[in-house]
Amino acid sequence: MPNTFDRKVSPLLVPERLLLGPGPSNSHPLVLKALANQPVGHLDPFYIDLMAEVQDLLRHIWQTNNRLTLPMSGTGSAAMEATIANVVEPGDTVLVGIKGYFGNRLADMASRYRANVQTIEKPWGTVFSLEELEEALIKFRPAVLALVHAETSTGVCQPMDGVGELCRKYNCLLLLDTVTSLGSVPLYLDEWKVDLAYSCSQKGLSCPPGLGPFTMNIRAEEKLNKREGKVPNWYLDVSLLNKYWGSDRVYHHTAPVNMNFGIREALRLIVDEGLENSWKRHHENAVLLWNGLQELGLELHVSQEYRLPTLTTVKIPEGIDGKAFSLHLLNNHAIEIGGGLGELAGKVWRIGLMGYNSQKINVEKILNIFDSELVKFKS
Ligand SMILES: *Cc1c(COP(=O)(O)O)cnc(C)c1O
Repeated sequence: MPNTFDRKVSPLLVPERLLLGPGPSNSHPLVLKALANQPVGHLDPFYIDLMAEVQDLLRHIWQTNNRLTLPMSGTGSAAMEATIANVVEPGDTVLVGIKGYFGNRLADMASRYRANVQTIEKPWGTVFSLEELEEALIKFRPAVLALVHAETSTGVCQPMDGVGELCRKYNCLLLLDTVTSLGSVPLYLDEWKVDLAYSCSQKGLSCPPGLGPFTMNIRAEEKLNKREGKVPNWYLDVSLLNKYWGSDRVYHHTAPVNMNFGIREALRLIVDEGLENSWKRHHENAVLLWNGLQELGLELHVSQEYRLPTLTTVKIPEGIDGKAFSLHLLNNHAIEIGGGLGELAGKVWRIGLMGYNSQKINVEKILNIFDSELVKFKS
């Protein structure tokens, strides 16, 4: 036999971590329990009912009535790609507001679907004003404006008041990344006139990575229906997926049924807590963290009015080895926090309080360690 396997492989033993970084965050224990069930067939009547429940729950936490609302089989990036793949036709102008890492990913994806990609940029840690957005809409007259609501790379929450109205005025679709806001930060998709949005399972929803909630409204559906050619991505084609998630139940791909057990439980837990209570909890624990860090003399990267409750960027003080401190947290306290990306590389730590992890006890734990141990990392 050419490929023999003679090493002994020990049974899986995963170390316990407190994931206070940019994601994934820890899953709720009841979600883990839901995942541990035996799968059922993806056309089993039980599962068909569960699919409808997941769709209804997603509509609720997004505050939308969009018919086409479903979890894509894949992570947030798959759902991100689905929004673009379905509505962007070659030559369409797609305007991307870039103020962090994920704006760049949207621009890259749109270019792969042969869009005419135009971008407006702001420093990482700031937001776009309505005036800046309107000026760009007039200049580029895009078919789609893509924005990131919760920029996980910078800790900024983009205000959405009036943006949807502008997009209607200039006749373009509004595409919104809600990956780090769904379930944890107020989102009113229909009221904000958002035409397409996506998210993931592993940040605010307390579920492992693996599903990417996706939604599109009638305006976006109309653009999809008017396409000249097929959607250039078979796996993410909503017109095909809807034959499974809609009433026909036609096989498309084998649904990751256990992941859908997990997200159903995760969404149920949010509704059980109350959506507004979940938003409030995230806000309150973030304020505790912000105040605590500032009391320790640390500076936050984002000004208070634009701070994202689910992710805080903390400036690494002069003379501190930021990377060594993060490693210390992981090795000695089993806590993961994130470092800076792009413009913020080496300049900030990123502390996430998402979903199940947004708890006072976690805030106190991380603040205590910063208080007592950060001094040891002065060079
Ligand atoms: C995490 C993240 C994504 C990508 O999601 P994956 O699940 O990693 O594919 C997209 N946008 C934002 C804002 C994110 O934080």
